[in-house]
Amino acid sequence: MFSLPKLLTLALIILVVWYGFKWISRVNRLRAEQARPVGRRAPGAAAPGKGSRAEEMEKCRVCGVYVAPASAAACGRPDCPF
Ligand SMILES: [Zn+2]
Repeated sequence: MFSLPKLLTLALIILVVWYGFKWISRVNRLRAEQARPVGRRAPGAAAPGKGSRAEEMEKCRVCGVYVAPASAAACGRPDCPF
């Protein structure tokens, strides 16, 4: 028969394991999102700093690449609008 302190300890362990799994799955999802390639970035282009507002990205309707209008560069195709 379980005593009350043992039951409380068991409940605490279950809670810790539960939140541990939630935390691990959250970290794994964040890692997967960071590992995903985010378009083709020109070498030397400044990466947006933490907390800075995300630049409006415009999708090139010819090549499908997302580019920032401020630093837009043609992708090389003759019919590229940039
Ligand atoms: Zn293009």
